Amino acid sequence: MKDTDEKYMKEALKQAKKAYALEETPIGCVIVHEGKIISRGYNRRNTDKNPLAHAEITAIRKASKKLGDWRLEGCTLYVTLEPCQMCAGAIIQSRMDRVVIGCMNPKAGCAGSVLNLLQVDRFNHQADVTRGVLEEKCSELMKSFFRELREKKKKKEGA
Ligand SMILES: [Zn+2]
Repeated sequence: MKDTDEKYMKEALKQAKKAYALEETPIGCVIVHEGKIISRGYNRRNTDKNPLAHAEITAIRKASKKLGDWRLEGCTLYVTLEPCQMCAGAIIQSRMDRVVIGCMNPKAGCAGSVLNLLQVDRFNHQADVTRGVLEEKCSELMKSFFRELREKKKKKEGA
């Protein structure tokens, strides 16, 4: 873990809250290059009606545009929830140096839970991974989202 990890994870949490406000699963992401945030993203899957609209994909697309390169060497990606298989794949494809994760996703995560696609020796690139940065805050946001969702559902069913 680096000194600045919590600071950038807080920024990723801000993005996650944007998703929350749209009633999307609250997942947020920022990408840092040379000590600066170069892109941000949050989950918009329902809003955009797009299975690709994950926080990480959005942030990777913007970061590549900003750097004018598909390679994101020297970049660190901060994400509030462990990446899925698609995002872990995109992270490796982008040659990202490092990934910092808030909380893990035991049922779907591909950075150590179900699989660890970020660190397969036989691929041509592996990313350094740091887990559990502001873990409580990240998981509490998810929990409160799903709690609220269940309550809303109950109210609907009751009406
Ligand atoms: Zn994903």
